[in-house]
Amino acid sequence: MTEEGLVNEKRLLDTFLSLVSIESPSGQEDEIARYLLNRLEELGVKANRDRAGNVIGRWPGKGAPVALLAHMDTVRPVRGIKPVVEDGVVRSDGTTILGADDKSAIAEILEMVAAVGERGIAHIPLEIIFTVGEETGLRGANGLDGGSLRARWGVVLDDELENQIVTSAPYHVLMHAKVHGKPAHAGLSPEEGISAIQVAAEAVSAMKLGRIDEETTANVGYFHGGEATNVVTPLVELRWETRSHDEAKVQAQNADMVRALEEAVDRHGAELELNLAYSHEGYRWSADDLPVKRLASAMRAAGLKPILAGSMGGTDANVLNVKGIPAVVMGTGMRKPHAMDEHIAVADMVRATRVLVVLATEGDN
Ligand SMILES: [Zn+2]
Repeated sequence: MTEEGLVNEKRLLDTFLSLVSIESPSGQEDEIARYLLNRLEELGVKANRDRAGNVIGRWPGKGAPVALLAHMDTVRPVRGIKPVVEDGVVRSDGTTILGADDKSAIAEILEMVAAVGERGIAHIPLEIIFTVGEETGLRGANGLDGGSLRARWGVVLDDELENQIVTSAPYHVLMHAKVHGKPAHAGLSPEEGISAIQVAAEAVSAMKLGRIDEETTANVGYFHGGEATNVVTPLVELRWETRSHDEAKVQAQNADMVRALEEAVDRHGAELELNLAYSHEGYRWSADDLPVKRLASAMRAAGLKPILAGSMGGTDANVLNVKGIPAVVMGTGMRKPHAMDEHIAVADMVRATRVLVVLATEGDN
């Protein structure tokens, strides 16, 4: 039987609709986690939650184990999500996100297990990992105990096109800074004050921002301070990020931004408080590397033409790679993630599920 005949489209859609109906904004994943623990158990997959709150299912099989990841949390707004199915496409009613990011991935993984399992087809061992807090800094993935994972390599299902393989992701640094000036009355004694606004503004205007080169970007996304025109502003808060596929470049760009701030602070006798808020490592795989090769061949066997692409966004794959499990990202068919018009075609979910079926049951495992 072909994998086309294996996938039960109605069951896949029903699973997806049940999943999107369970609200799970980041930090509130308990309900969906309980649902998934039950579903996995029904499918014969032993599952538990780890210390970080991730659901981890182990499906024993023969061959080298592979990890499949999807995240349980979504961005907001989610209150009262009402999925609408029309002409084979699932959308929200327009007042919330849909949550296809990333529940389409979860539904596809569950359908693959159900389809392969009910026919008793031989398959490789799978580590099925549903993470928490992906949207708020890859929190769940960071909390994974890498030492307990057996997977030789992994696929993170968390992108749009079902035939797309994301082979690289950037190094990413996010900084918070506080510029402390000195308050004074703006009319009576301005010379006694140090304007944090002026210091920060000078610093930011000296920074190189936007697209730095073809693989590096930088942005000051938060500039906050001041209360009244008659006070020399004592405090400005800044937040910025920089990303690059090249680790040295992201460090150099961040150092340039810090230097611009330090120089302006020195010029005015202000003070600086700097905090690294977040950073994650990038990765870059070529077409010959294990995860790319194996996923691309599964896609071809499922009748899809794989597209290899780089990304400027971070996913759980960044963390998996750091933990020593070579991983790439695959699309699920979702479109417009994070938007009110987020949607997904059922046929695309079926295609992605077929890829997973091939991955689990074929090849040099
Ligand atoms: Zn996502």
